[in-house]
Amino acid sequence: MLYQSDKNEIPFNGQFEDSEEESDELSEEDSEDDGLQNRRRRKRRQLVNNNKLLIMNVSDTQYAAVKFVGKILNKFKLQYTPYQETQVWDFCWTDNAVLPETLARMQSHQRINHFPGMYCIARKNYLGKNLNKMAKQFPDEFDFYPKTWMLPSDISDLRQNIKKIKYFIVKPEASCQGRGIFLTKQVESIASEHCVVQRYLHKPLLIDGLKFDFRMYVLLAGCDPLRIYLFKEGLARFATQPYQQPNQMNAEEMCMHLTNYAINKDNPNFVFNTDEQQMDVGHKRSLSSVFKLLSQQTNIDELMAKIKDLIIKTFCSVQPFLQSNYTQPDNHANNMCFEILGFDILLDNTYKPYLLEVNHTPSFTADTPLDAIIKKNLIRDTITLMNINLKVKNDLQQLQKEQMQRRVLGKKPKISNEEKKSLKIQAQIEREQYESQHLGNFEKIYPSDKSYEDYLQHAQKLYEEWTGANIRRNIKKDNFTEREKLIQQRQIQHSITVQGSVDSRNKLDPSKSSNRKSLYKNITIKKENKQNLINKVFSNPQKSMTELPQQQPLELKIQDRDDNEIASEDQQNTSKFQENIDRFKRPPSFYTMKSTKQHQELQIADFFNYKRISFPDTSPLSQPNTQQVLQISSQQQLKSSAQMTRKFSIRKSNKSKLKSSESDQEAKKEMIQAFNQFSQIQQQQQQSSFFQSQQQNFQNQQPQQNGSFVKPKVFNLKLQPPHFKIPSFPILMQQQNYYKLRYD
Ligand code: ADP
Repeated sequence: MLYQSDKNEIPFNGQFEDSEEESDELSEEDSEDDGLQNRRRRKRRQLVNNNKLLIMNVSDTQYAAVKFVGKILNKFKLQYTPYQETQVWDFCWTDNAVLPETLARMQSHQRINHFPGMYCIARKNYLGKNLNKMAKQFPDEFDFYPKTWMLPSDISDLRQNIKKIKYFIVKPEASCQGRGIFLTKQVESIASEHCVVQRYLHKPLLIDGLKFDFRMYVLLAGCDPLRIYLFKEGLARFATQPYQQPNQMNAEEMCMHLTNYAINKDNPNFVFNTDEQQMDVGHKRSLSSVFKLLSQQTNIDELMAKIKDLIIKTFCSVQPFLQSNYTQPDNHANNMCFEILGFDILLDNTYKPYLLEVNHTPSFTADTPLDAIIKKNLIRDTITLMNINLKVKNDLQQLQKEQMQRRVLGKKPKISNEEKKSLKIQAQIEREQYESQHLGNFEKIYPSDKSYEDYLQHAQKLYEEWTGANIRRNIKKDNFTEREKLIQQRQIQHSITVQGSVDSRNKLDPSKSSNRKSLYKNITIKKENKQNLINKVFSNPQKSMTELPQQQPLELKIQDRDDNEIASEDQQNTSKFQENIDRFKRPPSFYTMKSTKQHQELQIADFFNYKRISFPDTSPLSQPNTQQVLQISSQQQLKSSAQMTRKFSIRKSNKSKLKSSESDQEAKKEMIQAFNQFSQIQQQQQQSSFFQSQQQNFQNQQPQQNGSFVKPKVFNLKLQPPHFKIPSFPILMQQQNYYKLRYD
């Protein structure tokens, strides 16, 4: 044996009767009975009441070994009231899975022997799915699991592999003890069944001509972060019929192909081990005795390293899921749950270990001395390692009491995240120290020197894909733009509501002229100024441009009360004109509008699209008069222009300008260039009308991301630069990535 039992310890013979089992139900009359037994019961009750005994709830366990270890070795008070119905227990041992709600109801000093959500590896189909996913990313590292298909979903992939594989082993999705398992070549016949199909490992390692597998006990002591211990002792379970590779004759011989104790114990060949001193005989032996045998043929350390590795990887594949089910943010020691899992491992004839299944409720039946000693020691060492004792409970309760008092007195200090982190680290250090000194027959296999970070990260990624958390996170990343979009949409609605209390979609519908009117009802165009301006510009363009007034404001005002920020991006005007005039075709440059909560006023300049007036003569010296200009303009149907310039200048209520995208100077320079390039413009004039070209240009553009154009809130509208003429053409509008025409 690899481990030593304490010689002074009370021996466990596999049986246990609790004389106090009924004590909880004792009536007052019973307690008046002065029998010796009742006096003992009363004394124990007093101790419990005085917090001098730990209460272990065993209402949901059938195993004598558990009760024996609890009561005889640890002196716990056993409680038989269903653990879901009472909260007056400190430690619960159940033979069934627990729900997240159970954990959520528990207090930090309480302990339970299962993690919620462990079915993610305990059910064959989930184990298969999780490991298959990991194997896709790490094919060489996750090849310890025989190729597995979950039917009916994986049937097409299975069909592709039918020819490559001799025999399949078919298992129910969630079953145990070999129930419902069979071997087959004909997977087509079960294509529509819900089951797990696995490559049958037809060359297992044999001892005495018999197939065998290992039951290894693994203690998961924490899931966030993972803490994994491997019990040094376990079981080797043998088939009872000499092994032959599967064929039509023997495929149904369960006692040849399956090593389950539940199946083989009924075979007349089965030899029971009756002497705990001789663990290397019979069809169920100790793990250590088989390792001793194998050590003559192979390197056991290497084999053990591979087994530990596969155990850790299996947990890595589901760590994010377990962590998400472990909802105990204040349990800094990460120790309210623990779980003993049975890993079934098969060796092939090259000594390569394969994981067959993980059992989350391994049997603690102690029907032979071998079982009794191994299982009793396993449970005992687990309870010791998990530090389940009265002192810990009392310390924790004392802490809670103090916190409660502070809260009642209003003195509760706020724990920052940093403090929480350091509390967690502190708790983990203490735990590390304690566990390293109380390992018993356990060996810590994780955390280890080897890094499993890649697997954990990939598992996290898979988990997030599965839950959609990755999408949410990406959205968060994009939140800046998203938020801006939302803000802008809200601004549109806000401004529109301010204007006329009409639904924004109606507001922006170009077909609804009443809405348009209300949106721009405050715009007053000073026609006189406009005409003067045109005259000025074109009587002597070179000269007048330098003399142009800075701004010709058209004003529209809306009070803005919300915090907001709008940014509008340059939109590249598409083809139609040569490169050298691209700048003129460009719709608005990058503008920013800002406002603060109170009294902010935005000034929007050049709200409309402007058209550059074209000239018949390329020479700047030949200067047409205004009449000519207008005439030419109408004749050419404004083909040359499509100058979509919108400018938003922003001004706070204190009149200070926050941002202005392009200076007037620049505009003037552009004007000069425009004149020089006039002849080129003419050549490029398209047959389409100005309206068509504008429409096309806009439609060719990428949708403006923020929609700021249609979302002005405060309108101090300015005509800028003055050398443009306000066209009597539709204004192209955009909302929610759609461009709409608005006729003004
Ligand atoms: P159960 O939970 O019902 O025990 P297992 O998956 O553990 O189901 O399979 C039962 C037995 O079948 C194993 O103990 C092993 O002997 C045999 N077995 C299972 N899978 C395979 C396999 N892929 N190749 C060879 N034998 C297998």
